[in-house]
Amino acid sequence: MEEEIYTDDEKELFELLKWTIEVSTNFPQLSENDKKAAEANVEEYEGIKEGLISLAISRNKFYKETEANKLRHLLEYKDVTCTQCKFFTALKPVGEKVGDEGFSYAVYECPKCGTKFSENLPIHSEDRIKAGEILIKKMRKKKVAKDDIENLEKAIEKMRETNKDVEVKTADLLKLYDDHAKDVSDLIVKFMVHKQNVSTGSKDTNIN
Ligand SMILES: [Zn+2]
Repeated sequence: MEEEIYTDDEKELFELLKWTIEVSTNFPQLSENDKKAAEANVEEYEGIKEGLISLAISRNKFYKETEANKLRHLLEYKDVTCTQCKFFTALKPVGEKVGDEGFSYAVYECPKCGTKFSENLPIHSEDRIKAGEILIKKMRKKKVAKDDIENLEKAIEKMRETNKDVEVKTADLLKLYDDHAKDVSDLIVKFMVHKQNVSTGSKDTNIN
């Protein structure tokens, strides 16, 4: 089955555009000016169609990538050491577990002794930041070397910046898709009114 990348509104608008382009192309234009205007309109409608297609493709790609990112950590190999027998190897997680602080951790299964274990590093970056902050507090209490604390602080700051970049990009895209959905519903109204006008005998086949 072919993948559906269009919303119902977009499909409706496609149908209206198809109809409008057909009418504009076949309607006998009396004057040269009318003919030119009709051609310009058809070009505009084709442009709207192309815009719909390219937005739907990039939107579909974005949602797919977002979904894939959620599962990526379960598919990647990582160098880990078994907590039981200390066997060191590259493993793919067999699942995840939620720790005391509510953070999610990847669970690995040792191929040598069969122990299921996880590392101290949470899966999700926002949890890693929180876990890092907790660790810093502990390090301060234990009077760990200042350099070590500073290095960890820098790493956390870097993670925060990366997270923020992703959040801003995501928010921008979601707003773009939202604005686009509003534009599509406005255009449906516009083209529907036009279709009604033409169907009820108005000679004007131009929208504007
Ligand atoms: Zn083991």
